[in-house]
Amino acid sequence: MAELTLNDVTKIYDDAEGTETAVEEVSVTVEDGEFLVLVGPSGCGKSTTLRMIAGLETVTDGTIEIGDREVQHLAPSERDVAMVFQSYALYKRMTARQNMGYGLKHSTDMSGDERDRRVREGAELLGIEELLDDKPEAMSGGQKQRVALGRAIVRDPDVFLLDEPLSNLDAKLRSHMRTEIQRIQSELGVTAVYVTHDQTEAMTMADRIAIMNDGVIQQVDPPEVAYDHPNNEFVGAFLGSPSMNVFDAVAREDANGYAIDVDGATLGRIPHEAVEDDLAGKPVRFGVRPEDLHLDEAPDDATDTCRFAATVTVTEYQGNDNFVYLDVGDRSLTARVPPGVYPDSGDEVTVSVAAKDVFLFERETTTAIKTRGVSGERTGTQPITRG
Ligand code: ADP
Repeated sequence: MAELTLNDVTKIYDDAEGTETAVEEVSVTVEDGEFLVLVGPSGCGKSTTLRMIAGLETVTDGTIEIGDREVQHLAPSERDVAMVFQSYALYKRMTARQNMGYGLKHSTDMSGDERDRRVREGAELLGIEELLDDKPEAMSGGQKQRVALGRAIVRDPDVFLLDEPLSNLDAKLRSHMRTEIQRIQSELGVTAVYVTHDQTEAMTMADRIAIMNDGVIQQVDPPEVAYDHPNNEFVGAFLGSPSMNVFDAVAREDANGYAIDVDGATLGRIPHEAVEDDLAGKPVRFGVRPEDLHLDEAPDDATDTCRFAATVTVTEYQGNDNFVYLDVGDRSLTARVPPGVYPDSGDEVTVSVAAKDVFLFERETTTAIKTRGVSGERTGTQPITRG
């Protein structure tokens, strides 16, 4: 087990079609025993980053350290990492036992007894003892993925790398395996980097989440901190489902602070002290999460709660809550409301938004100006202690 550090790691692909910077100056330290999830849209450079750590891809610039060793020039087998792929990559003609022991047999001088012991222990941890004599063709997707995990575990690696390992599983099994992978990682105490494009997977599994876009890491924080305090609009909109509602807006100064106007309708209000800079007249991006739009609540006198009229277009029943699609002028907003709130299409409703729930981003740079809270400090959710 060891700490993993990437220093300004860059990958430029240079092929017939020209050059492409797939990963740009990525710097991050994954602590010993930490579960880091690298998340971002398809093509943002996640797999390339993981493959550079594994040694399956060369590094154009920068260094990768595992413990106190610089590894970017080492062959994959010399790095003490184990990787699990979406495709399982099992040998079809071998049993689970042979698949799990294969790497140990061919890349270590471990005795047969020791190999058997490791495979048995790994199988026990994964709950697949009864599958050890089966071949992949006789297994379900979930069982194959467990064998693939087992093959990585038996090597007792310093760093565990997982590239979208659950994408081929159905929704129910995926959610079960998420918990399983977390349990196994924490029992082994192994440093892990997990790649996914699925923000739910990232939010539920990670100790810390690294959000990537266009080859660049946007933020590395515990999920609840990134959710409440995104560094920029990209992170704010990427995390959360349904996504944050975001619009071009102007901050208009009034007696109580700033009114946030979207095409003439005021959709948010904040007190002066919620932001450091003078925003009077400034073009901004206004964001509000669906769960922070409240419908038809008894009005209170708080001057920093904004109320506005909206028309319901559709309400979608979700079981544990409902999604309500609303029109305000030409803008559409999505609200996530409790199961008892079920307005009809065409209903006129009053929507309220508390000042603490208003997000503001710079119009040009999209950098966050205000995140959750009103004191101008990061007063929202505290990191949850896991494990
Ligand atoms: P992700 O895993 O986030 O979906 P990738 O790391 O696979 O993204 O890809 C990042 C970018 O690098 C993409 O634009 C992709 O087209 C490009 N890329 C990946 N592999 C190669 C390659 N072998 N040659 C050229 N470009 C590549």
